[in-house]
Amino acid sequence: MNPKAPATLVAGAFFMTAPGPTIDSTMQDTLIKDVVIVGGGTAGWMTAAALAKVLRIREATERVRIRLVESDEIGIVGVGEATIPMIQRFNAVLGIDEDEFLRETQGTFKLGIEFVDWGRLGDSYMHGFGRIGQDLWTVGFDQYWNRLRAAGRASPLERYSITRAAAKANKFMRADPSLGNSPLAEIAHAFHFDASLYAKYLRKLAEGWGVERIEGKIVDVSQSMAAGREGHVSAVTLDNGQRVEGELFVDCSGFRGLLIEQLLKTGYEDWTHWLPCDRAVAVPCASVQPITPYTRATARTAGWQWRIPLQHRIGNGHVYCSRFISDDEATAMLMAHLPGEALAAPRPLRFTTGMRRLGWNRNVVAVGLSSGFMEPLESTSIHLIQASIARLISFWPDRGFAQADIDEFNRQNRMEFETIRDFLILHYHLTERSDTPFWNHVRTMEVPASLTRRMNLYRSRGRIFREAGELFAEVAWLQVFEGQGLKPEQAHPLAALIDERETADYLASVEGVIAKCVELMPTHEAYIAQHCKALPLR
Ligand SMILES: Cc1cc2nc3c(=O)[nH]c(=O)nc-3n(C[C@H](O)[C@H](O)[C@H](O)COP(=O)(O)OP(=O)(O)OC[C@H]3O[C@@H](n4cnc5c(N)ncnc54)[C@H](O)[C@@H]3O)c2cc1C
Repeated sequence: MNPKAPATLVAGAFFMTAPGPTIDSTMQDTLIKDVVIVGGGTAGWMTAAALAKVLRIREATERVRIRLVESDEIGIVGVGEATIPMIQRFNAVLGIDEDEFLRETQGTFKLGIEFVDWGRLGDSYMHGFGRIGQDLWTVGFDQYWNRLRAAGRASPLERYSITRAAAKANKFMRADPSLGNSPLAEIAHAFHFDASLYAKYLRKLAEGWGVERIEGKIVDVSQSMAAGREGHVSAVTLDNGQRVEGELFVDCSGFRGLLIEQLLKTGYEDWTHWLPCDRAVAVPCASVQPITPYTRATARTAGWQWRIPLQHRIGNGHVYCSRFISDDEATAMLMAHLPGEALAAPRPLRFTTGMRRLGWNRNVVAVGLSSGFMEPLESTSIHLIQASIARLISFWPDRGFAQADIDEFNRQNRMEFETIRDFLILHYHLTERSDTPFWNHVRTMEVPASLTRRMNLYRSRGRIFREAGELFAEVAWLQVFEGQGLKPEQAHPLAALIDERETADYLASVEGVIAKCVELMPTHEAYIAQHCKALPLR
């Protein structure tokens, strides 16, 4: 992942930041001018802000109107608090000032995720962002490391990664590109933030850019009978009788999928047989020192617990499988493992892991929880929102709604969901744990053939390949394979082209440079205090 490329929101999706093209008169007739976003959670306001900015709804010659309908009575899920570095692209496209955004959302920095007790009880490892080591010659750094590790001459992987080494030391600074080829020039980071404050922050931006917010509960939906548009949504009606008409509808209504499912019956692909956790209970607690620059995911007897440090509190939650543990036990387990004093009553959530069969059906595009859900083990939901918005812009329809475009949108959407799904399954399946029925189940269950193929490739010669357009890079897979205890039988044959002593010297120099860089970095707390300290919430 390279979050430093502001021209695109995600790889492969063109994103206009310069003045848009002049629209000729024939295009004007087919241009979609009325967009209605249903829902104002993270998905709704991210969509509203991005579309307002990219479509230049205030100043473009041909104006597109964007209206967002939300109901305060229904509220939002609002527990999405951890992100991955791609969100920097989103911020860059929106022109968001990172320090301001962190102050407004009580945010902190994130260098990776620590996994505790996943491969074996008592073990822990980190999935750090960014690269590991420095490329040496013919094959990747990991292959030289594999070869030396087999010879007993390599240090643990974390010592070759600036983000992992810094996270362990509770250090943080943003990358300083002026430092050339120093590891300090390429520190990849993401954020933790308070999701309800994030939605408020985006709402302020989006309304400032011309989005109209409509408060009210949708109680009825009308569909078109016009030739070529049969079944398209034409309007939503609110409980106060107001009718909101549109040409394109973005369904951000959360798990209920008001338009994409309740109305259009698009269907849902259930992945519970691979990712069996189906419930969560969440609770904030008081902060404790230090504020760690990473998320922690601790495996429990029938699921896992998250710990997300913010400036004003810590977000905690227990994701679990109701077949193996009761709600009461799961809540008690969470409350017994809080790092600080609980600040609210525990909040239960239910979900079914999987994806909507089509993310785009007729003139409705599902973004956010309405398009599917995978547990937040690798903090991917907010990224999936961003990716759907980018894809929607890439495939922006005219009034003809070309089916070929919709099909390709759906194909790419599926590919992204499925590759993330496989990566998440890996965390459960690749374990030695046999201490509870839950771990025995996930360790021995059948997994998708696509995942078996990847595991076999790595087991054989340590090879990892990233599918075109896939979110997680080779280095992410490497850290989880390694962290969960899978070792290649042999290294890549070409790793032997360099003398073992020379390779050892090279690895030692990378390790030494990274250790020195970490020494130079400020603590996470000092960095926040200097750049983006939030005011206490009133
Ligand atoms: C346990 C858990 C932990 C999570 N942790 C993370 C994480 O760490 N990182 C991450 O990236 N993601 C995480 N997520 C996912 C993240 O919370 C969601 O992706 C994100 O909040 C987007 O939600 P949403 O906007 O799609 O839906 P919601 O927040 O549910 O918003 C739905 C909106 O639709 C509106 N609405 C619904 N029906 C109507 C109606 N009839 N009329 C009018 N308005 C209506 C509501 O008012 C609301 O505004 C987590 C999710 C869960 C369940």
